[in-house]
Amino acid sequence: MQLKIYNSLTAEKEIFKPILEGNVGMYVCGPTVYSNVHLGNVRTFLSFDFIYRSLTHLGYKVRYVRNITDAGHLTDDGDVNNDRFVKQTRLEKLEPMEIVQKYTVDFHKVLDMFNLLPPNIEPTATGHIVEQIELTQKLIEKGFAYESNGSVYFDVLEYNARGLNYGELSKRNIEELFANTRDLDGQGEKKNPQDFALWKKASPAHIMRWNSPWGEGFPGWHLECTAMSTKYLGETFDIHGGGMDLKFPHHECEIAQGKACNGASPVNYWMHANMLTMNSQRMSKSTGNYILPMQLVSGENDFFEKSFHPTIVRFCFLQAHYRSVLDISNDAMLASEKGFSRLMEALKILNSITPNDEKQSGFSLEDWKTKCYDALTDDFNSPVLIAHLFEAVKFIFALKDDKETISTKDLEDLKSTLNAFVFDVLGLQNIEENNNEKLDQTLQVLIELRNQARKSKNFDLSDQIRDKLLAEGIELKDGREGTTYVLN
Ligand code: AMP
Ligand code: ZN
Repeated sequence: MQLKIYNSLTAEKEIFKPILEGNVGMYVCGPTVYSNVHLGNVRTFLSFDFIYRSLTHLGYKVRYVRNITDAGHLTDDGDVNNDRFVKQTRLEKLEPMEIVQKYTVDFHKVLDMFNLLPPNIEPTATGHIVEQIELTQKLIEKGFAYESNGSVYFDVLEYNARGLNYGELSKRNIEELFANTRDLDGQGEKKNPQDFALWKKASPAHIMRWNSPWGEGFPGWHLECTAMSTKYLGETFDIHGGGMDLKFPHHECEIAQGKACNGASPVNYWMHANMLTMNSQRMSKSTGNYILPMQLVSGENDFFEKSFHPTIVRFCFLQAHYRSVLDISNDAMLASEKGFSRLMEALKILNSITPNDEKQSGFSLEDWKTKCYDALTDDFNSPVLIAHLFEAVKFIFALKDDKETISTKDLEDLKSTLNAFVFDVLGLQNIEENNNEKLDQTLQVLIELRNQARKSKNFDLSDQIRDKLLAEGIELKDGREGTTYVLN
């Protein structure tokens, strides 16, 4: 089985060859924790969660690193008033690290809700200031960077003069870039408008600041990812991911920093996830065209007619390939909900099927498995994989109606393969099973409260608990072993 990955750098689907056989080093740009993540951000992280799960399922040992951007997210014009942390700090009158903590916790809660697995390492930009200063020094020593008025910039023209190619990922022509960029940043501090900041001098108003050989300041955004990916995955590693919008300038700058520092391209396979749109417009905080994950799950929004369980949202997202744009809509969510319950029903039916070793089945399990793995290894094609899973669903319903048969061996194989794809690879959750567990836990609490009421001779309350549950169709039965319940 050969895994093919679309490499944004070469714009081709390539056969995946890891640096160390059987192992994968993967870095994905994490969130800037200055506000709540919106559903669009979730889509990108979910795409890479699916890729991580798929690689693991295919037998790779993955070291998955996803950072937290918690230092000043430098804007193009370098204006301190545009630093996202400073802005939000003023607004909420909190310490910058209080903002960071608040939204990091929120980010984890949201990803947990959608059943995303945690990365193996989750480094923060503020925890790697020393490494970023060292990288900046190295770039100055090698002649790729220069200091100007307490800030340090990467010299894009020098980089190109040495035969390296700034713009290779975004396929931008340097002359074009020069013609189209205005020098807004640093009031003439830069040699060329395309030069980007590695280290930025902190103005008196800037709260997040660190000592450096160039005075007090803070690191540039692009540098943190180079520092952290190099530290945990090496100078060249297998996969780097992020949203499509990060290709330029963020990832372009990462390539330049890596090549300038180490003489080699830092990443073998660049993977970019496409955008989530709503009303056919990219979801984004700045335009106001966004929905927060909790608003969708709770139903408190004006866009969707009802609330949807996070696993339905996950299923909906995975029905689009990670490189395609996905427009979220009420109809798409309703269709996902319907498809999801059919899938869960099929899994339930599978447990009650009696195999038949005498009759020949019209369904070839081997062919079906091959098709599923072909889809998964074809650049992680989740919609095609899901379509194949539904062929199995159709077959299971035919088994139920005695229109098909299956051997004992195939039945076990189908069960384990389908369960692995649905729960391990797609990361879906069985809502019904979870609900049953919750119901049981809740009833145990009520039984305990009723016992306490009886002990303290509060029979009014204990009878009320019993009668109200009975009215809801839940009968409590007192026996020698304690109290049990029956759902009528
Ligand atoms: P940020 O916190 O702004 O750096 O964004 C975190 C991640 O979300 C990045 O990888 C972005 O590319 C991604 N992202 C932002 N907007 C969208 C969107 N509408 N759809 C999918 N991904 C997005
Ligand atoms: Zn990054």
